[in-house]
Amino acid sequence: MAAQQEHDILSTINYPIGLLRISTDKTDFSGKKVAFEETLKNHEEKMTNFFDQQEWEKNFYKEVLSGGTEYEQRPELMAVVEKINQGKCDVIVVMELQRLSRQGYVSQVIKKAVEKFQVLIITLNPFKIYDVARNMNDSFLFDITASMGEHERKVASARVKANKISMARQGLNSSGSVPYGYVRNPQTKKLEIEFRIDENGNKVETEKAGIVRQIFKWYLDGEGQRSICDRLNDMGIRNKQGNLWVPNSLRYLLTCQTYIGTLVAKNFENEKGKMVPTETVVKPNNHPAIIDLETWNKSQALRNNKRDRSGIDQRSKDWNSKKNMSILDGLVYCTCCGRKSTIKWYKDKGFFYIIKCSRFDANGLTCNNGGASIKMIEADVFDKILSYKEEIQKRIHLFEGNDFGTRLADLETQKEMLERHLEELKLEFMTIRNQEKNYERQKQKTGIADEFEEEMIQQDKEDNSNKRMHVNQKLAEVIQKLESTPSADDEIKKLKNKLDIIQELENREDLTPQLVNVLLKQIILKVHYKRELPTNFRNLSQKVRDEEYPPQLEIEYID
Ligand SMILES: [Zn+2]
Repeated sequence: MAAQQEHDILSTINYPIGLLRISTDKTDFSGKKVAFEETLKNHEEKMTNFFDQQEWEKNFYKEVLSGGTEYEQRPELMAVVEKINQGKCDVIVVMELQRLSRQGYVSQVIKKAVEKFQVLIITLNPFKIYDVARNMNDSFLFDITASMGEHERKVASARVKANKISMARQGLNSSGSVPYGYVRNPQTKKLEIEFRIDENGNKVETEKAGIVRQIFKWYLDGEGQRSICDRLNDMGIRNKQGNLWVPNSLRYLLTCQTYIGTLVAKNFENEKGKMVPTETVVKPNNHPAIIDLETWNKSQALRNNKRDRSGIDQRSKDWNSKKNMSILDGLVYCTCCGRKSTIKWYKDKGFFYIIKCSRFDANGLTCNNGGASIKMIEADVFDKILSYKEEIQKRIHLFEGNDFGTRLADLETQKEMLERHLEELKLEFMTIRNQEKNYERQKQKTGIADEFEEEMIQQDKEDNSNKRMHVNQKLAEVIQKLESTPSADDEIKKLKNKLDIIQELENREDLTPQLVNVLLKQIILKVHYKRELPTNFRNLSQKVRDEEYPPQLEIEYID
């Protein structure tokens, strides 16, 4: 299209709409998620420039979504289609044609509206005007681009599935997630210990592998998972996703065989809506190990010891012999007579029930504590555990406030790690500077400025300086603590172990009833249960029974 022709077309526009569509799924070469906020900002700037050139009112619609989002879940796009149908849109401006849609159905909804109302589509990257309604070539191009997107998506998903196991057999990494401390080499497709290129062009291990080793060391020293998380978080060290460490992610790390160089790939298949593992490939000595075998074996043995001590395995055996066990099994006691209550499984009704207590007391009188469905009691127990959790947290703060601080040696380790962390950040800064120098050279050679690149470098610099400030502050705190007189505190350790257990219980949907029971028994000694019932109880409606005669519980915790 000639420039004059383009100009003529653009000058007839009355209702332009800019559609900014950003995907949150985009990843860079290392598999790291690309921050979509930056891309969105960049696109918005380009869009703004274009609208300003045309002296158009900036009527923008912004969408942030993941690749597979359905049309109904795209309110912005639906709003644009509605504007078209109302005759309030005569051009849609997008960055690329594919931004309109990668999905067949969605793109056809747009195409229909665009054809009907003879709306133009303008792409900015590259600049092109599509007249889908009147120009056959444009219509064809629109279809091709849309169906390429659709096809691409389907093929990709099938290919990923088929390749996964065959790649694993060749020792290649085919899983989406790479454990903390590793990167996936896009050329060899194998895992490598995360590295940085220094100013001399040499590969240097980043601090992450060292942090993994330190985590195992702390664990072998008898540290609880929560306590290790606290240390890492306190030092400003973030997990793989850049979030705070939680015991669950630590448990994964401590049992992840990737760290001894073994590749484990599980293939899951959808079976009646459930993902079932169908094939597992295990390849030892497949990539560089971060943890040596001795450390690994010791820490796995320690895990097993902890399990033995808590009696998980023995109890599991007991349970396997009895199919249906309540998670409160062996924990409920009658408040009136002090005896253990009987929990019964009603097969026909499909629930557990505490049956009415009918023991004789010392005076020969019958105990008349009533029965109740376990469901009601379970909910109450977990509510109470949550308040207990708050109490524990308060107590920890109290202890910490009273300067029962960590041991000298711990602080010494923290100090060393922070210093290493700081060194790492200084090196990172050098890398950014090198990048900047390269860019400057490039800019002088070509005479082309890349505002986006410049902004990214500035952002990196700012991030780096913020991190350094944070680490410096932490370091100052640690040094100050070192200089004051810290003392060991087993009480805090004990409390934190309890928090660990409660945290596990909060995710109890993922655990077997057996394991939930074991965990409960590690914090609860007895659940005292009482339910006083009137003689006409059986004649009352279920609602009145539940509301007017709720079971009364009191929990006795283990010290
Ligand atoms: Zn009783």
